[in-house]
Amino acid sequence: MKRTPIKEIFRNNETLINQTVLVKGWVKSLRKSKAFSFVVLNDGSCFQDLQIIVDDTAPNYEEISTSIAGTCMSIEGLIVESGGKQAIEMQGKKPEVIGKVAQDYPLQKKKTSLEFLRDIAHVRARTNTLSAVFRVRHHLAQATHKFFSDQGFYYIHTPLITASDAEGAGELFRVSTLDDKNPPKTEAGAVDYSKDYFGAETFLACTGQLEAESLALAMGSVYTFGPTFRSENSHTSRHLSEFWMVEPEVAFADLDDVADLGARYIQYMINYAFEHCPDELAFFEKQYAKDLSETLKHVASSEFKKITYTEAIDILLKSQKKFDFKVEWGVDLQTEHERFITEEHFKAPVIVTDYPKDIKAFYMKLNEDGKTVRAMDILVPGVGEIIGGSQREDDFETLKARIKSCGLEESDYDWYLDLRRFGGAPHSGFGLGFERAIMYITGMSNIRDVIAFPRFPGNAKF
Ligand code: ATP
Ligand code: MG
Repeated sequence: MKRTPIKEIFRNNETLINQTVLVKGWVKSLRKSKAFSFVVLNDGSCFQDLQIIVDDTAPNYEEISTSIAGTCMSIEGLIVESGGKQAIEMQGKKPEVIGKVAQDYPLQKKKTSLEFLRDIAHVRARTNTLSAVFRVRHHLAQATHKFFSDQGFYYIHTPLITASDAEGAGELFRVSTLDDKNPPKTEAGAVDYSKDYFGAETFLACTGQLEAESLALAMGSVYTFGPTFRSENSHTSRHLSEFWMVEPEVAFADLDDVADLGARYIQYMINYAFEHCPDELAFFEKQYAKDLSETLKHVASSEFKKITYTEAIDILLKSQKKFDFKVEWGVDLQTEHERFITEEHFKAPVIVTDYPKDIKAFYMKLNEDGKTVRAMDILVPGVGEIIGGSQREDDFETLKARIKSCGLEESDYDWYLDLRRFGGAPHSGFGLGFERAIMYITGMSNIRDVIAFPRFPGNAKF
């Protein structure tokens, strides 16, 4: 007999009544009484557990009834109506143990902290919380592809190994096959990367944007969705060393176009999550984030506030609030500033545009004032920055000058400059941190709990 995922059983509960089905999964809990035992089984296909009653006529009743949480079981039985919390349950006829569980299985106690679960990431997807997060993650990935594809965007794949530090932030992981104990040296005594595998110094990509621009300037609207690497030494609840980024890039679009695209994309994900993961969202609201659904529904149906960086600085200065980092025109907005604006001042997502050029990357389009660039960040309550984007500099000379003044080598960006010489066009794009979107929609407060195997400073286990 073929296994039926528990999700299918609940979805078709009426047609399956009095039918025999086979389920396979892991025991959540098991309560033994004299003549029968209650097995609560979860197979991860959905939030719900299936309650199964196994009576002592089963030949292996002793083995089944003494099993503990975590045991992997296969049970064939009859679906029947239930008087309990759920509409149906199973009368288990043929139970079997597929995989026994050792006594030191770490998930036997009901309550465990998220912190503790991070140390046992190899089994934490068995918990209600993490499996719910990963199902939402799956659906948001599907939503992403559907949202962009339905609007004519092409899904492209940009390289993960790169020779350029596009953000200019120097937070890169080196990719090298040189002998680290005895690397070849140049005459000046520096490591000679021209002898390295790629004939140049190479890194794991911190963005796919530059390559996405090249394809946008050939195919119109494209997006990449892939892993991104940053060796920033941030021990925060919002940064990972390896995270997933969604980066649309749109030819003939200006900053307002992509700010609007970003807002609609976030709203689309929220609606998609309500449609596809109602049980999970209800669980997160109950367990972690009071008012989650009310807040999200409000965001999904209202226009995002839009202010300039200069207005944001004004709001911060007028707030009279004591911040750790000084507020004055020209400083980068710190997390505390972003959170004040989105959580306390507007109590809603906010799009901040036109940042000072000195705190932004070289490729952002210079405004006529010569001081600010056409950049935008989307900030959301609880998370802070979720999207960073810009209109790209499309003027060859201005871009060249910016590369130079940012201390970058023009020769590293020759192909990127070519895009401005070979039929260039205005174009814009952004990057959305996929994990930050998951945090926002689930209400989970630590980014390490929304990716299965988080990488952060000091940790690459699993
Ligand atoms: P932050 O100020 O939070 O460090 P950033 O300005 O460095 O963000 P961008 O370079 O604009 O971020 O990257 C685009 C998006 O990628 C951000 O809006 C954020 O959602 C996400 N992001 C950036 N760095 C990380 C990280 N280390 N871990 C997870 N997501 C990240
Ligand atoms: Mg950063």
